Amino acid sequence: MNIDRLRDRFPDEDACRQFFESVRWPNGRRCPHCGSCKSYILKTLTVSAGTYECGQCKRQFRVTTKTPMHCTKLPLWKWLQTIYYIINSSKGVSSVFLAKWIGVTQPTAWRVGHAVREMMDPASNNHLLNGVVEIDQKYFGGKPKYRPGVVNKRGRGTSKQ
Ligand SMILES: [Zn+2]
Repeated sequence: MNIDRLRDRFPDEDACRQFFESVRWPNGRRCPHCGSCKSYILKTLTVSAGTYECGQCKRQFRVTTKTPMHCTKLPLWKWLQTIYYIINSSKGVSSVFLAKWIGVTQPTAWRVGHAVREMMDPASNNHLLNGVVEIDQKYFGGKPKYRPGVVNKRGRGTSKQ
C-alpha cells in the first residue's frame, strides 16, 4: 500500500480512530482502567468523538488510553503515517526524516517513533500492534572474516541463512 492509498483508506480522524479501535479491541471495547466490557459513548460538547465512559469504574477512556500514545495531542493520522513509514523501511526511520514527512518537530518525531517501536515490541505490555508481523527478508550471520582484497557480497547471493 502506498501513502496515497493509505490516505484513501483513512480519509479522516474518525476512520483512523475506528481502525485503532478495531486493532485494540477486536472483541469489543474494554475499559483500560478496570477491564470491564461495559462502557458508553460519551457525547457532550466538551469531549471529542471516541471518548468512552466505563459502566463499572465510571472513568473515561479513549483508544489511546494507557498505551504509548496516551494523552497524545497529535492527530491519529500522524501516528498512522509513522507506523506506515516504520514498517515500510527496512533500515528504520530517523526522527529527522519522520519530522519532515509527518510535519512535526524533530523531538516530537523522536518521541512518536519511539512510542510506535514500543507498541511493536512483543516484550512490552502495550500490545496495540500484535498478531502476524511480516518482514521482507533478513540474513542471519555475522560479518565475514576479513581477507585482504576479498569483497564480500551482502544480503542476497550470500550463503547466509
Ligand atoms: Zn472501568
